[in-house]
Amino acid sequence: MLPYKSLQEAEATLGRELTVAQKLWLNYSANKPDYILHYHNIMFLIIFYSIIPLPYVFIELSCSKKMDRYKIQSKIKKSFWDMFNCYTDVMQIFLLVVGPLQLFSYPTIKWIGIRTDLALPTVWEMFWQLLVYALIEDYFNYWIHRWLHSKWGYQKIHHVHHEYAAPIGLAAPYAHWAEILILGIPSFLGPALVPGHIITYWLWFILRQMEAIETHSGYEIPWSPTKYIPFYGGAEYHDYHHYAGGQSQSNFASIFTYCDYIYGTDKGYRCHKSILKKANSSKGE
Ligand SMILES: [Zn+2]
Ligand SMILES: [Zn+2]
Repeated sequence: MLPYKSLQEAEATLGRELTVAQKLWLNYSANKPDYILHYHNIMFLIIFYSIIPLPYVFIELSCSKKMDRYKIQSKIKKSFWDMFNCYTDVMQIFLLVVGPLQLFSYPTIKWIGIRTDLALPTVWEMFWQLLVYALIEDYFNYWIHRWLHSKWGYQKIHHVHHEYAAPIGLAAPYAHWAEILILGIPSFLGPALVPGHIITYWLWFILRQMEAIETHSGYEIPWSPTKYIPFYGGAEYHDYHHYAGGQSQSNFASIFTYCDYIYGTDKGYRCHKSILKKANSSKGE
């Protein structure tokens, strides 16, 4: 919690005027203990999970011909109730597993040094930290995901996430509770190794969730801003992992494509793409 109760007190103590961003942060956080700010994470998780997949839900239900051409597995359509049941299953995991984990993890967050003070990060600082978090997450998630495709890992845990052979945005966090916990480790590793301000910490989990929803959306939207991110996997890339199913030995990475390329686990996908390309070009002849 900030040691100042008001703007006047902060400016008098620091001997200078606060920036607009600092004033906003002071107004928001001045009377909130740090553990309350930390618990915002579960609140953001629920809010963003309830909002971000909505455009995909409407697209799926509208059966719009315009959008259907971007559907990756075009023959498979989900009903309202399919999607609603997925939402309620995920919310149960959030409330019964992720929520309590947040309550107990507060001392760890303090220990690793997530700040809540007025020394707000610059945009560049946030950018570099988020990039480091994404690289760390991607690398460790890749290896854990490969382990989840071992016979034991798949049968005991990971088969739940693969119930969706044609994924939907709402199914991004649809998984066994143990998988939610295990795959939470690489997400926390970046902030633990390179701790920053709690705003960066919140933003990281929000962006990670948005990315997971997009990659599970089932739609390859050509004008998505993520197309400009170098080595970004995207919806088609992860959709293939679900399409190939439990035996899938392809496309394990969560965000980027380079781990699959380096370790040779994108061969199935590249072969699949070249077959599709040949089929499409012979149709055009
Ligand atoms: Zn998998
Ligand atoms: Zn998935």
